[in-house]
Amino acid sequence: MTSIKVPIIENILEANDFVAEENRKIFSEHNIFCINIMAAPGAGKTALIVKTIELLKDKIRIGVIEGDTASVTIDSDQVVMAGAPAVQVTTAGECHMDAMMVRKGMEQLPLDDLDLVIIENIGNLICPAEWDLGSHADALVASVAEGDDKPWKYPNIYRNLDVLLITKTDLIPYVDYDIDHFKSGVEILNPGLVTFPTSAKTGEGFPAWTEWLLKKTKAAAEK
Ligand code: MG
Ligand code: ZN
Repeated sequence: MTSIKVPIIENILEANDFVAEENRKIFSEHNIFCINIMAAPGAGKTALIVKTIELLKDKIRIGVIEGDTASVTIDSDQVVMAGAPAVQVTTAGECHMDAMMVRKGMEQLPLDDLDLVIIENIGNLICPAEWDLGSHADALVASVAEGDDKPWKYPNIYRNLDVLLITKTDLIPYVDYDIDHFKSGVEILNPGLVTFPTSAKTGEGFPAWTEWLLKKTKAAAEK
């Protein structure tokens, strides 16, 4: 009798990484660039995503996977209003998204008709950094209102980033925030990290950020 070898996946993170690798492959097969956007609650992820869609929707086709801890559709409603298909995956109270949740979202998106998929992760600066979702790039949104000491407090999330968005720069005159102090902390953890200071209110930084994202998306389509 021949025995069938079944690969046994030892732990949850290993299983996650397996699904994440598959997700990345599926995105790539569809010529899609996928970016995972992480942040603390209230950092302005949704505002950033909505403005990004408004600026890019005539150039590329964008879909959004919204992670939410509860089943309210506030964020996904805003994204749909901005003009992009959005699916919401609920983590049932979990404080991070995993690759299986992203897969469920992917199954509901028209992947053949998209160039860019944005994942809005759960607001949390600790465990989302541990979970590979199958994105091609990982971004962090850090608002000036959170303070300039965050790279020292949450070093792990800064270490593996591909791009950093500083948000709410219009608040700098009103809060105790030294952008050079913040950037020096980031530089220690992730030297040369691509960083865009932005304000969804004034539009500052959005031309440079959307150009970066557009370039990445077009490069993924040509592969
Ligand atoms: Mg949000
Ligand atoms: Zn978590």
